[in-house]
Amino acid sequence: MESILDSKITYLKGVGPKKADLLKKELGIYIFNDLITYFPFRYADKSKIYKVGDIVTDNTYFQLVGTVSNLTKVGDKRARYVTATFSDDTGSTELIWFRGLQWVMNRFVPGKKYIIFGKPSVFKNKFNFAHPEIEDYEESDFNASGQRLEGIYSSTEKLKNVGLGSRGISKLQKELISQCIEALWETLPEYILENYNLISRKEALVNIHFPGETEIIDKAKERLKFEELLIIQLQLIKDKNSVSHKFKGQIFKTVGNNLNVFYNEYLPFELTNAQKRVIKEIRSDMRTGYQMNRLLQGDVGSGKTLVALLCVLISMDNGFQSCIMAPTEILATQHFNSIKKIIGDLDVNIELLTGSTKKKKREEIHSQLKDGTLDLLIGTHAVLEDVVVFKNLGFVVIDEQHRFGVAQRAKLWKKNSIPPHVLVMTATPIPRTLAMTVYGNLDISIIDELPPGRKPVTTTHVFESKRLRILGFMKDQIKQGRQIYVVYPLIRESEKVDLKNLMDGYHNMIHDFPMPDYQVSVVHGKMKAEDKDFEMQRFVEGKTDIMVSTTVIEVGVDIPNASVMIIENAERFGLSQLHQLRGRVGRGADQSYCLLISGYKLSNEGRKRLEIMVETTDGFKIAEADLKLRGPGDLQGTQQSGVLDLKIASLVHDTHLITLTRNLATKIIERDPSLDKTPNRLLRKQLDKIKEGKQNWGRIS
Ligand code: ADP
Ligand code: MG
Repeated sequence: MESILDSKITYLKGVGPKKADLLKKELGIYIFNDLITYFPFRYADKSKIYKVGDIVTDNTYFQLVGTVSNLTKVGDKRARYVTATFSDDTGSTELIWFRGLQWVMNRFVPGKKYIIFGKPSVFKNKFNFAHPEIEDYEESDFNASGQRLEGIYSSTEKLKNVGLGSRGISKLQKELISQCIEALWETLPEYILENYNLISRKEALVNIHFPGETEIIDKAKERLKFEELLIIQLQLIKDKNSVSHKFKGQIFKTVGNNLNVFYNEYLPFELTNAQKRVIKEIRSDMRTGYQMNRLLQGDVGSGKTLVALLCVLISMDNGFQSCIMAPTEILATQHFNSIKKIIGDLDVNIELLTGSTKKKKREEIHSQLKDGTLDLLIGTHAVLEDVVVFKNLGFVVIDEQHRFGVAQRAKLWKKNSIPPHVLVMTATPIPRTLAMTVYGNLDISIIDELPPGRKPVTTTHVFESKRLRILGFMKDQIKQGRQIYVVYPLIRESEKVDLKNLMDGYHNMIHDFPMPDYQVSVVHGKMKAEDKDFEMQRFVEGKTDIMVSTTVIEVGVDIPNASVMIIENAERFGLSQLHQLRGRVGRGADQSYCLLISGYKLSNEGRKRLEIMVETTDGFKIAEADLKLRGPGDLQGTQQSGVLDLKIASLVHDTHLITLTRNLATKIIERDPSLDKTPNRLLRKQLDKIKEGKQNWGRIS
């Protein structure tokens, strides 16, 4: 059944073709429903008329009554803007327009009273109002309706020019609601409204646009946010559960010898509780008969690699081969060495395959993979090549997932007729609530605990001018046998400048360094891969004391003896990058240090980032702070997920509601998987509507 809310916006009284066109282009409003879900971002007290003398801040909206005089065009041949003086009995302030200049020049009658409404800005220490909303005072209905609180809508210059500033939009809302009031049906089942003490949809929609009193605004918002988040969660959970999204998978039911022996005799430490929990989650996935696709999140150093290794042993005990893929040769080599070491003389056949593996060795590996004598292949992209054929690949680990594309992952899937179980590991934590929405249709495991005995890295923010003290500190550390990273920022647009920055820094350091014999490795993006590896390797082997580099070392490198991380121009890095870099130290027994170096001139956000880094080493807290500073738009994974289209709920501020609706949605789907029960049909209707939504006829025009 079509609802009146599906009508094209042109059919609303007061919206002609021109306005309709702008509403579409500027705000994405195509149909009635789009408009009614275009909510105010704040409210102004409309009954209140301020005096010019009351304007003390540019933080809030003011409604003033007064006269307009001194209209002046400013500019040489062509006017660039128009100013005017707005006065009441307490003083005057400036009005300014940059567009529609001719119209403005003819708009005002001297001595006549006008109401203006807007938010002032400050220019040269004086307040002015740019493009204020204006009505003739005599004709204004500003208080006729008795409406005290007025919703403030964001608008654009183009819309303002056709009379659709905030107040214009509010008028459309009034018209819309009076036409559609009967069509504002309830969309949530009665039992949910009751249990969560929510107001009806009609009451919420009317009051979010035209609130009777302040208290009802919060109730209206809560109701609308609840609904929005609940529907998203239902959708995600349904997707996740639907068999059509799952592939047939290998069944690992044996608890075998390798795992037991390794666990009881080789493991040098107790697993953390988080590691145990995650392994349990993975094991139960591996028994379902469906392919596992699980994301493993865990802070740097939380022991993800060990989890991966235990899963490799499970796979082996069930007669399958495994593969671990890392984004760089260094990382692959590192995994290979550390796994070799920890596995000791246990009978596991492991090989390393990278771009630099010699031809003979390569062929040997290929044939061992084919005849099944190789249990675990560790490597780089090289493992994806078509010549790499497994006898029976059952389990795949992809380390640092964001370095690999979907196509590359798909290639690994195809290496067995029944696809292998896939574990994707990432050390870039995203906040839980965001994970629930962004990755809500993936299975997620989280290691939220570090192995015991780690000393938190001591982090300090140091100004550039303290260079000599920094060098002195470095000298002390080197004398104690430690190794040091010095990292310079790299921004793609200006690679040349950055490289110069790095090389200058390097030369200055060598020149000023208060110590005769020390060795430095330099690694940057412009070097050949083999030179990079060579330099890196010297540092890994402890032949050099300092590693000067750009962020190429960001991911995964594990050198326990390197205990100092110095980040130059630290204000230019994002929070998650700073956290990744700091995660390179603090891996050994020694106290580690992170020095964040910056100039004195810092933006607010830059300063905030450095403060957070000094304050905490908890990756999830840092991710939470990052989300608050930047909003979800920049976070990895959010772009594709559609969560950015939220109309009213906020991923940053509504974490409580996200958890609440997530739990409710889980329960609902558990009891009523296809939402067939009478009260839940209302919910299903909404999900169906979303499915067909993209082809909505109202949008094709
Ligand atoms: P991640 O890959 O999550 O950054 P790793 O797997 O490289 O972390 O582990 C970091 C270090 O901690 C390794 O040296 C590893 O052997 C060690 N480790 C892992 N799990 C534990 C544990 N439960 N107790 C003590 N040390 C551990
Ligand atoms: Mg790792």
